[in-house]
Amino acid sequence: MGAVQPPVAAQGRSFIPAQFWPWPRALGDTRDSPVRIEVGVPVEMAEDVFLLRLPLPFALNHINVYLIREDEGWVLVDCGVDTAESRAIWERIASRISPLNRIIVTHHHPDHIGLAGWLAERFDAPVSMTAGEYAVAGRYSDPDRDIIAERFPLWLEHGLSKERSTALLAHMPRYDEQVSHLSADRVGFIDPQQPVRIGQRLWQPIIGQGHAPDHLSLLDESGALLIGGDQVLPTITPNIAVWPGGDQNPLESYFRSLDRFLGMPADTLLLPSHRQPLYGVAARARQILAHHDDRLRALWEACADWTNACELLPALFGRPLRDAEMGFGLGEAIAHLNYLEGRGCLVSDLDGNGVRVFRRCAISTIDQGSPS
Ligand SMILES: [Zn+2]
Repeated sequence: MGAVQPPVAAQGRSFIPAQFWPWPRALGDTRDSPVRIEVGVPVEMAEDVFLLRLPLPFALNHINVYLIREDEGWVLVDCGVDTAESRAIWERIASRISPLNRIIVTHHHPDHIGLAGWLAERFDAPVSMTAGEYAVAGRYSDPDRDIIAERFPLWLEHGLSKERSTALLAHMPRYDEQVSHLSADRVGFIDPQQPVRIGQRLWQPIIGQGHAPDHLSLLDESGALLIGGDQVLPTITPNIAVWPGGDQNPLESYFRSLDRFLGMPADTLLLPSHRQPLYGVAARARQILAHHDDRLRALWEACADWTNACELLPALFGRPLRDAEMGFGLGEAIAHLNYLEGRGCLVSDLDGNGVRVFRRCAISTIDQGSPS
């Protein structure tokens, strides 16, 4: 490995060329990476594949999107949430990424699809995504639905008080505040069976469930690069939660989807939507499985007597949740409980107040619920 030029980001607000290798190769290697990733400055991670970090107005304060250079023009994977700050970054680099030949969206969450509609108009570019993600985005954008209010009965059923639910829902941002309008005539669907040619590489779509219903990751045909979206993340685990109208056993779906990642070569570079790129997709997938296994055990042990999801949050997270985390956290608790019930480790019932309570099955052991 050659000497690394520090600090490359000091070269100014420009595209930073390939500095790949020596990226930290071992899982858990915390040495400083050779390239400092700054918001708004594209950095080349592999030949013609640039990571662009965009700001997010959430506790998780950034997303990585990927710009891939073609012979003429660029292809973008994911877009950032619709904020003035993100739009300004796109405007600043617009002349460098024109023509934008195509926008690919991994899934419907606002940080990924948010600016797709605006970018499609700005660059006159088509948008590709899976049919399932487009359907959910459409449901969430439907002006005749109130997807925030739809959470109310689910949260009450799982033990959150009326007052707390009302207060939390009142402060929840609406989907269409974070997602620009995406014209249907701009959208084409990704065929999961068909490799996608982008520039010099062919990419194989990998469809995953659990985090989102029809989530797209892209593996290049050599197996060297994986644009992972949110399916496998370094240092944080993807949110696997139950939402109204969605998959009611998303953890089971997620474990099934991880199989494909567990089989990837040790030197596949994960290009994730959050945090730092990382070698070792399969090793990271195993860590995520072990994490859920541990959380499932903790929940099962906490269910000696009838208990609801809200009461089980400390057992799952080991700390109180902030208001902004409650929706995701409660959804995640329900996902773990539904998984254990589906495996026959827990039973559930409604108590006198209509709240769903869970208890260990008399003859169950946690090992029948373990994914590993
Ligand atoms: Zn997501």
